[in-house]
Amino acid sequence: MTFRSGLRYILAAIAALGAGAASAEENVLNLYSARHYQTDEALYADFTKATGIRINRIEGKEDELLERLRNEGSNSPADLFITVDAARLAKADELGLFAPVKSKLLEQRVPANLHTGTWYAFSTRARVIVYNRAEIQPALVQRYEDLAAPALKGKVCVRSGGYPYNLSLGSALISHLGEAGTEEWARGLVANFARSPKGGDTDQIKAVAAGECQVTLSNTYYIARIMRSDKPEDRKVMERVGVVWPNQKSFGTHINVSGGGMLKTAPHPQAAVKFLEYLASDEAQAHFANGNNEWPVVKSAVVANPALEALGSFKADSLNVGTLAKNTAQAQKIFDRAGWR
Ligand code: FE
Repeated sequence: MTFRSGLRYILAAIAALGAGAASAEENVLNLYSARHYQTDEALYADFTKATGIRINRIEGKEDELLERLRNEGSNSPADLFITVDAARLAKADELGLFAPVKSKLLEQRVPANLHTGTWYAFSTRARVIVYNRAEIQPALVQRYEDLAAPALKGKVCVRSGGYPYNLSLGSALISHLGEAGTEEWARGLVANFARSPKGGDTDQIKAVAAGECQVTLSNTYYIARIMRSDKPEDRKVMERVGVVWPNQKSFGTHINVSGGGMLKTAPHPQAAVKFLEYLASDEAQAHFANGNNEWPVVKSAVVANPALEALGSFKADSLNVGTLAKNTAQAQKIFDRAGWR
């Protein structure tokens, strides 16, 4: 092959690729998702039925997908990244992965504190206090700050301080109590530990029910899962524990989100925005939130979920999710210094 014919061959190949990409624009959407809920199947099927756009899904753990996106760079086939936790969404944003999305519909339907210029939250979960009803007066545990009070010495168990859910809470506390106040809180909390952090939120709830510790922090959907379980041992767990919405008289209960955004290198940007808008529809919101016992972000969406109904309503912290995400690195430093491993 001469240089000229080689070049012609390469140019023809590039043109063919370009044509392929243009014709694919209408019909396909590549989704990187860290959500794995059965009800999501209906969500994707409904979107395809309504728009004719087929969804290719790559599922993985949050951090693995993020790593994959970094490695693929501008060659990534991904159009959208969907995950849980504001800190992880912020990490993707910091890496410059997201494209700005302008959509009147999204701005109308997703509350201002639940989106940034690039990514949108589609459901919320609260981080609440769970206590042993036989051992603890609920009046003692009405605020996050109370978990650091000397009255709870040796009674608190909680998952690792490095876990995103605790980092997001720490980040919210930095906004409300300041850095020094948050460090004092973390030191008090660690001083109250009944045991070193181990396991997830569900393990802590079970430990509280079993009396291994008396108070913990948990995301609401873990509680809802136990509430909806028909296993006798789960029933017993719920009989033994009480749930408090923290800080109802001050800044409100800390909420975190699940959400997503369009990637800067998205091969199908129009379909990507269509999908984000679809996730904000009443129908998708109900599916999306029910899939993991979460609350929809769109006020008009109706959720029929007995566990969420039983948990009742509460005042949520109105902190902006972007602000929340920004402080997580600082929260990690504070927790490290306080010895919350
Ligand atoms: Fe979780």
